[in-house]
Amino acid sequence: MKIGVLGGGQLGRMLALAGIPHGHEFVFLEPGGEAVRGLGELIAASADDYGALERLTTSVDVATYEFENVPVSAARVAASRVPLHPPVEALHYAQDRVHEKTFFRELGIPTARFVPVELRADLDKAAGMLGLPAMLKTRRFGYDGKGQRVLRVPADLGAAWAHLAGTPLVLEAFVPFTRELSIVAVRGHDGAEAFYPLVENVHRDGILRRSVAPAPGLTAALQSLAETHVRRVFERLRYVGVLAIEFFQVGDELVANEMAPRVHNSGHWTIEGAETSQFENHLRAICGLPLGDVGVHGNVAMVNVIGQEPDAAAILAIPGAHLHSYGKQPRPGRKLGHVTLLADDPDALRERVLQVSRHLTDA
Ligand code: AMP
Repeated sequence: MKIGVLGGGQLGRMLALAGIPHGHEFVFLEPGGEAVRGLGELIAASADDYGALERLTTSVDVATYEFENVPVSAARVAASRVPLHPPVEALHYAQDRVHEKTFFRELGIPTARFVPVELRADLDKAAGMLGLPAMLKTRRFGYDGKGQRVLRVPADLGAAWAHLAGTPLVLEAFVPFTRELSIVAVRGHDGAEAFYPLVENVHRDGILRRSVAPAPGLTAALQSLAETHVRRVFERLRYVGVLAIEFFQVGDELVANEMAPRVHNSGHWTIEGAETSQFENHLRAICGLPLGDVGVHGNVAMVNVIGQEPDAAAILAIPGAHLHSYGKQPRPGRKLGHVTLLADDPDALRERVLQVSRHLTDA
């Protein structure tokens, strides 16, 4: 099939790398496109360029997005011309933290307590209601920890306001989590579902540093709880494609932080670590094909390469290591690639993660 992708970063790149062996062809709509060079046709424009969008939709059989901030209006136009998955409504919820948390709560999925903030006075009131510490975040366009500030003491309110004001904000109660987990799942046209195991994620400065799959100590009860939450989203949205939900674990509870209606960084380990990768399963789903087995190959970890490319030879000398480089220009804080590690037991995996981290400047 010919697949149109709104966006063309590393997620588009890995979708193409999964789809080309199946004979799929790709057209990307992306102003830059360095990560998808050589992997398909590139329409060098943004999704709100309606002429470019028309060129994309008239030349493909099915479309998807790999970039969460595709304007909903542009996605609706695309969906009126060609089958587009996941549904536009999922984008609408994922793009705004208040809509997203309200949606989760309507479905009975726990979230942090939150209060929308428009004016400086709202912030004082919200902090009074939720208490400190709390997280002040922009409602939209926040990613990799950008657009948020931790408020620890009342004196932090002024500086956080000065930094973030000018766009709608939300104050979230601080969740005293034991760890951060996420689940990647996929739903097909026929309603078939498949769930990868919950993975444990470590973030620093709001950026995902590494994931371990399955999450250490994962119980069947916790996995089943995560699947129940995902299933509610799937059913409400009549979802097709891959969906990721990030959770905070608090005791035996899962508190949803956000969802990504697309393939997700915490699922990159599936390329070598699962029977079928999240990328292949996303393509299978949107093309109306049977979903692939999501069985895991032992103990798996993924470490992000951030800011600077590592010495490839040093990484590849580590047993069980697979290096992915996205072909992007290095810049501080930028995700440039990742390393997947496989090991027979958790101790060997931990040791290999340490070995990889020693070769990364920002792990
Ligand atoms: P986000 O942009 O919402 O994914 O937040 C980035 C990171 O900040 C998360 O992965 C957490 O480590 C931390 N964080 C965000 N929101 C909260 C919260 N309400 N309570 C505690 N930590 C949070």
